[in-house]
Formats: sequence, structure tokens, C-alpha cells
Amino acid sequence: MSCLNKNIFIRTLLLFFLLQAKKHVFAQEGYTCSHDYDDLIYETQNNLNEYFKQNPINSQEDEQNRNLGGQTIQPIRITTDFTRLTAQPGGPAITTDQINYLISVSTTVVNFLSNFIKVKPNTSNNIFNNKQTNDGTCITVIPSQDDQTIGITNSDLHLYFIFNSESKAGYLANAGFCNLQQTSTYLRPNFGRVLFNIANMKNSGTNLEQYQNDVMVTLHEVIHVLGFSYGAMQNWYNKSTNQLLGQTAANNLITTQKIRGLDTKILGSPNVLATAQKYYGCPTLKGMQLENQGGSGSVNSHWERTIIRSEIMTASALTEGLNLTFFTIALLKDTGYWDDVNENVTDPIYWGRGKGCDFFEKACSSSTQYEEFATPGQLACSFWGDGQGKGSNSDSYGDTCNVIQIYSNRLCSDIANQNYQNDPASFNSDTSNDFSYNSKCFVSNVYSPSSQYKYTDENLRCHFYQCTPDKTQLTISFSQIPNTQIVCGYSDQGTQKDVVYQGNKLGQVTCPSNIARMCDDQQCVNFCTYNGICIRGQCLCNPGFGGVDCSQQCQGFISQAGICVDSCPNGTFGNSDNVCRQTCPNGTYPDSNSGLCKLCDFSCSQCTGPSNNQCTACQFLSYLSNGTCVTTCPNGLFADEASKTCNKCPDGCTSCTSYTTCTGCKAGYSSTSNTCVSSSCTSPCATCTSTAASCLSCVQLYLQQPNKCDSSCPSGYFKNSVNMTCTACPTGCKNCSDAKTCTLCDTSSGYRLFGSTCTICTSPCATCSLTDPKSCLTCENGLYLQNSQCVATCQKGYFNGPNYTCSPCIQGCDQCSNGNSCTTCNSNYKTYTYKNVQVCINSSSCFSPCSTCSGTFQPTTCASCNKNFYLQDTSCVPQCNQGYYGNKTNQKCTQCPTNCLTCSDSSTCTQCSNKYFLSQKICVSACPQGSSANNNQVCISTDLKTFGNLQYFTLTLILLLIILF
Ligand SMILES: [Zn+2]
Repeated sequence: MSCLNKNIFIRTLLLFFLLQAKKHVFAQEGYTCSHDYDDLIYETQNNLNEYFKQNPINSQEDEQNRNLGGQTIQPIRITTDFTRLTAQPGGPAITTDQINYLISVSTTVVNFLSNFIKVKPNTSNNIFNNKQTNDGTCITVIPSQDDQTIGITNSDLHLYFIFNSESKAGYLANAGFCNLQQTSTYLRPNFGRVLFNIANMKNSGTNLEQYQNDVMVTLHEVIHVLGFSYGAMQNWYNKSTNQLLGQTAANNLITTQKIRGLDTKILGSPNVLATAQKYYGCPTLKGMQLENQGGSGSVNSHWERTIIRSEIMTASALTEGLNLTFFTIALLKDTGYWDDVNENVTDPIYWGRGKGCDFFEKACSSSTQYEEFATPGQLACSFWGDGQGKGSNSDSYGDTCNVIQIYSNRLCSDIANQNYQNDPASFNSDTSNDFSYNSKCFVSNVYSPSSQYKYTDENLRCHFYQCTPDKTQLTISFSQIPNTQIVCGYSDQGTQKDVVYQGNKLGQVTCPSNIARMCDDQQCVNFCTYNGICIRGQCLCNPGFGGVDCSQQCQGFISQAGICVDSCPNGTFGNSDNVCRQTCPNGTYPDSNSGLCKLCDFSCSQCTGPSNNQCTACQFLSYLSNGTCVTTCPNGLFADEASKTCNKCPDGCTSCTSYTTCTGCKAGYSSTSNTCVSSSCTSPCATCTSTAASCLSCVQLYLQQPNKCDSSCPSGYFKNSVNMTCTACPTGCKNCSDAKTCTLCDTSSGYRLFGSTCTICTSPCATCSLTDPKSCLTCENGLYLQNSQCVATCQKGYFNGPNYTCSPCIQGCDQCSNGNSCTTCNSNYKTYTYKNVQVCINSSSCFSPCSTCSGTFQPTTCASCNKNFYLQDTSCVPQCNQGYYGNKTNQKCTQCPTNCLTCSDSSTCTQCSNKYFLSQKICVSACPQGSSANNNQVCISTDLKTFGNLQYFTLTLILLLIILF
């Protein structure tokens, strides 16, 4: 769901760009959310609190009702009222296109939310209670009489959409809830209002990515309605008392600390606290920082940008996009309003992850230079690899930390940048940049094969990339370099690789330092084409649309044959893009009854079905224990972070926090430095067989076979810190660092290292295709790769090229020993010596920079020239002889005007020939009246000369005075 608001930036940045007159458009900070600008949003929350103080929930009566058992939770039903999105007398204008656009983004968000949140359904109509607010409105919206009496059918939450147009204000939208619905089993917002500022949020009409960005902005606003609001915390629901939280308890959730010089509020509600502590790896945290900058519009009702950049609930849009993550889920859980908030439709986040208390507190002012932050002016790829940019601290929410801000004309996902008109001409013809939804930024200086190497810049490029499903391997490819790929495996992270095409090295590309991070931030095909939202690289299409990019109209599902069908054929399952596939993505499971990929229960990150809570992997805060996900492991087990499972404590322990730290010992065991040692065993055995020195488990050492303890493991085994044993490496692997990462293969048995796994390739392949062991990728020592086969000598027309690959000879060669010259020629070709090198030419050969040649077998007698060259007689030159200028219209050297020695075009002389003088760009035999020639044969106004003398006189006078005094 990486989305952004880039086009909004482009619009505002145009001015900035014109002022700067640079070749890069620098993406400044984006428009903000003005959640609390509107004092009414705060006032409404205070009124609600007052109302429920006067009308408390009868908890005794409720206790009975609640014990009757909960209803089944179901997807939330959000109903919408767009009737106020029309021009009102005296109000701002709005076009039909704008109305339809706002309705479309809002509809996509509502469809998303029905997959995100489950609630106990409202069993009656949803009625607006005007007594809950002071003036009976929903933050200025006056609900209709029907809404206040009959109510809305099939509605758990009803949203009013309104708009204004304030072009000077820097905000996009704001939103809040205005009513709370109270029943015996829940309390939650049931009416809300979203305001769009159409001066800033409007459709450019063609840009798919902007639509996706505006969807994220709208989702951000609706999340404010769901309770993400500083003002609303007093009205969060305390399930255990069945009451509103109240002001005192809400205040207790907050601590204020001075962080990076700013008073910062820290939210410590239970899920937010646990998430922050675990995410940063800092157990002493009091919670998560709220935004500490930006005035009443953004302060405290958003996450602090500096430490969790790009989270959807930070205060403004970003070029690199916004991600809905478990931080916002934690807060939504803590509101108490929502029964199930599903993490399986959110995106991963990496910013500051595991970086400790120091990152949380000091961030860019730490003595550690975190990769999240940049130095001022540093040119680099952005953190997620979305684009090329520059270190800047211009973000108003970034606590003056420098981060890489992406130039919007170097945003890799924007296809329009492929032909960005203000780029230097050499940029497009020289570089191998590819801009598309599946491009990312790499450290790279790869040129296109036709490059003239004129473009030299910061060695950053956008290239196509593709990830394996397990996100351990990434392949880079180039539209301008056919059949050429760079494969980056786990062990290649951060290493440079040569890009070689037909024997020529075209540059180097560096594998990303964190492949998983780049692979976890995939854009959807065509950004879901106005009809859906992108989640983890797959579209969630709105009802009525389907296809990998939601571009096909279909009420049902798209079969594998591409046909719209009512339900998916047997053995295939409807994915979130309404396409029938044999598999379901992580976070969903194949449900044979419905033929759908269904979402796993909110507690599981992976599940098998047939029930949605048969978990095989767990969410961020929970651990797998006997097929279910728990936040606290049962007695005798400990929570293992690496495997995210509850693991058994070592023998002899009754409780433990890890395999090496027992917190209680069984009878017959004694506690020695956090381990429990059987009194009948000899150290270092913690437990032993009937023989005292034959270990079953070890005291803080790894258990080897047979039954001995050591600090290291033998070859072919790795240190398994989960159960403190030496565990065998996978088959074919001689050395490994864990069960998935092999570093050395058993080559004597035919295993070869491919990425981080060992595969059997057929000799003489050294590495081979994962699907075909006979299809070589590289060869054993001394052999050359030709068409996926390994040969001792390359075929005719090829030579033994670099990296042991057969590279084609240049055109016309029969045999060659390198990529520049020929030993013998093919028929119809004859040898020709060019620049001291023997090559082969045919009758129509013509060498660059000639574009066309005159005559036959005359490859250097030019008739016309390549771009940026000019025809001088029969040669193509970058600069014409004296007395000529490069005429851009016909690419010929054209004579300068009479008596002119050098000129830039037919009417602009810059130097005159002997005895002539330059006046007003032309050459004259004598300077006109009022001017005289200087030493360079240029006519200079004599008035100016006098003035010059006068200045000289004044200066001398001043000097004289200084000397005198
Ligand atoms: Zn906001």
C-alpha cells in the first residue's frame, strides 16, 4: 500500500523548480492533514464526553446482557452520504469530475475497511442522536430528519462527506466522529464527517498513482473517524468497566518528554506500548511518540514522523508513500471500539526497526549514523528505494533531521519521468533508467549499449526489479539491455555487480543492502487503475472489478483463462484482485466451500484453514503455541522472537525467558547462573543420561552429538539458538549460518551454491537454473557459457569473453579474439582498418558519428550525422571549423556571415575577422558613433568608458585619503 501524493507535490513544486532552475525537481514536504485545525472536532469530543457523563451506561444491567454471550463479529458496514458534495449558493464551485473522483476514492476506502475491521453488527437502524453534540450537528453537517428518526439501514458507521476550497491553506482534508453508539456489548463511533479541501485534493485526470495516493489520504482521514485522535482518547471505550475512558484515564495514557529538544507526548496505551517496545527493541519505552510539530493541525493526533516515517498516520503526505502498519492497528485496538482489526491487510515497516532506545530518543542527533537519515545534500536512493533524492531537513514534521527527499522527476514508479523534458538530452539516450511501477532505485552507473557516455551524474539509476515470493532474492533487468539480468541473493546484499552485454561492460549495479525491505514495498500493477487499493503488492479490487490491476469489469471472478465467471473453477480460489488462482497469498487461506482466499483470523499472519484461526504463523505481537497465536506463552514455554513461537524451556526449568535463562528450577535441579543443573550430572551437562557425563542438554553451550557440550558446532551444523543444539545444515550444504542460509555446498556430491541454497546442477554447470539443472548460468573452471551450455571454445562469430561467457564478435566478423576487432570476415564483408584496428565492413557500412554515408565501402565518408554532431565536408564533428557554426536545423556546419570569424548562429557573430569590429552581434568596418573599438575588436560605448574612468578616479581619491589619514 505504498502510496503517495506526488502529483500534488509536482504542482506546488513547479514554482520551486522554476526558481531553482535545476534539472531535478525537488519534492518538498506535502500537504498536511488538519485533523485538529477545526476546533469543532475537539469541541465535539468534549461534548460527547459531557453527554455520556450525564447519561452513564448502566453497567449492572449490561453485565447481565454481556454474559448472554457475544454476537458473531462481521465485516464492518460503512454507509456513505455524498449528497453534500455539490455546489451550494455562495459556496465554492465543484465540477462533476471532482465529485465523481471524491466518491470513487471514498468508495475504495470503504471497500477496504470492510476487509480491515470486524464488529458485532448493529442489529437496528443506525440513528443519529442530536443530543450528543451541543448544536445537534455532526461537525457542521446537519443530518437529515430521516437520519435522526428512521436511521440508516445496514449501517455500523455512517459517513458524511463535505468539501471546501481553500487554496491558500496547506491541508488536504480533516475528519472526525460525532456520535457514539452504546449497546450492552459495545460502544463505538457510528457517525462521522470527512472534509475534503478540493483546492489541494483534486484529480489531474490521468495519473493512476495520484489516485492511489488520494485513496491513502482518504483512508488516513477515516482512521481519524475510527478514533485516532488526541481529543477522542477521553471517549475511548474501557471494555472491562463498560464505560468511557474519561479524561483522567486518558491523561494517564500520556507522558510528556523532551525529545530532540521538543516537548513530545508519548502514548502508552497497552497495544501501542507493547508494539513500540518490541518494534524498536527498547523495553524501557513508555509508549510511542506523537507528532510534536506543526501547530494544532497536526500535533498529537499523528505519529511522530522522525521515528516512523511513511506510516499512514504521520501528519502529511510523502513522495515515497504512506503505509498502513501495525502501529496504527495497535492504536485502533486500544480505542476499544473495534472487535477485530486485521493486520493481514497492512504493510510491513522497517524505519528504525530494532534500532533500540537510542534511535527512538536521539534519531538523527545520535552519535550513530543510522541509514534512515542522511547528511545534508547527500545524493542517494531513498530508504525504501522508491527514488533518487537528496539529503534535506525540509520536512516540517521531521525534527530537522536530514532524510533523502526524492526528486519527483526521479521517482522510479512514475513512468512520466522516462521522458521528463527538462532532463539533459544525454540522460535518456545514455542511461539505462527505467521508470515504472516495478522499478526501484539502485546505486548504479549502468549505461545503455548505445551510450555516448555524456551523462555523468550521481551514479543512481531506476531499474526494473522482481522478487522471489520468499523475498530473499531479487532480479534486476534493463529495457535497453536485452537478455541481461543481475541476480541479487541474500549473500550479495550490498555488493557491486558488473553488467556485461555482448562482451562490453556497461557499468555496475550494487545489490540493495536489504533485499527484504525492497521486496516488501512493491507497487501494484498500474496502481490498481482507479478501482482498488494496493496491499502488499496485490490489488484489492472494488466489487465489480477484477484483474491483476482491477481494470476488467466483472461482477464475479476472472478465471485463469481470463474470462469473467460467477465463481472460481474447482481447485482455484478468488484472490483479492478477483482473479482465480491455485494459491492464496500470505495472510489468507484457500476456502474450498466458497472458492475464495479468505482472510486469516486477526491473530494469525498465516493459516491453513478450514477454519480461519488454524494458525501457522503469528502477527507482530503474538507467538505460535499449538496452532494458535497467543500474546503470552503458557507456563514452561518461552516466547522466541526469532521463530515467533512459544518454545519449551530447557529440561529442569519450570519457567524461563529464553533457552539459556531459567527463572525457576524443578525439584532435583539447582540454579547455577540462570540455568538449572541436575544434581546428578557433571558440568557442562545441564541434564544427562544415567551416565553423569553424557549430556542431554548443556549449560549455556551447544549440544553436539554424541551427548557432549561445546561452544562451537562441527562443520555441517549450525548453532540453533532456539534449543541450544547443533542442528544439521540442509542437504548438500557443508556450512550454514541457519537452516536457510548456506555458505558452502558439498561440491563433491554435485551441489552448487545458488543464492543462499545448494542445488544440484548437471556438470559442467557451476550454477544452473532453479527449474532446469542442465541449463547453466555459470560454468565450472575454464569453461565458457554459450546458450546456457558450457563449452571449452566459443562458436564461430563469438569469442571467449569476460566472466567466462561467449560474447558475440562485432558485425561482419567470422572470427575474432575480442569485442573490438576481427581476424577474418564473413562473405560479403571485407577487412578495413579503422583507428588502427581491423574490422569488417560491407557495402553499406557506415560508422558513428556518421548517420548515413555516401558511396559503398566508405564507412567514414559521412552524408549525415548522429545527434549532437555536424557535417563538415564529409566528416561529422561535435564542433565546426572556424568560420562555421553547428546548424541545429540540418546538422551541418554552416558558414558564418561575411567578415565574421566565429558565430553561434547565422545572426550572432561572436568574433570578427581582421579589420572588422563587433557591434550588436554583427561585424562592421568602423564602430558607430558614440563607441570605439577595444583590443578585442569589440565596439564599446564611450560613455561607459568615461564612467569607468570616473570610477577609477574616485577609487584613487579614496586610496589617497586612506594613505593620508
Ligand atoms: Zn491526520
